[in-house]
Amino acid sequence: MKQCPRCGYTNKDIANYCARCGYPLYLQPAFPNLYQPTYPPPPPTYHYPQSLPASRARKPDFPIFALILGIGAILTAILLATIR
Ligand SMILES: [Zn+2]
Repeated sequence: MKQCPRCGYTNKDIANYCARCGYPLYLQPAFPNLYQPTYPPPPPTYHYPQSLPASRARKPDFPIFALILGIGAILTAILLATIR
C-alpha cells in the first residue's frame, strides 16, 4: 500500500496518484535509497609507479619469456626428432 505523503491517505500499490488529493505517488519511491542523487564517480586513480627502481626497470621480462619459448621449441623439436 502507498501512503500519500501529503494527506496520509492509504492508496493501492498500483496507484500513481493519491485517490484523495491527487498527489503524484510515483514521486515517493518505495526505496528512497535508490533514488538518491548520484554524484559522478571520481575518476579512477591508478597507482602505477611513475619510475620503477633501476634494479626492476632493467629486469628484462620479455627476453626470459622468449628464452623459455625457445627452449620449449627446441625440446619439442628434439622430441619430434626422437619419435621419428
Ligand atoms: Zn493524498
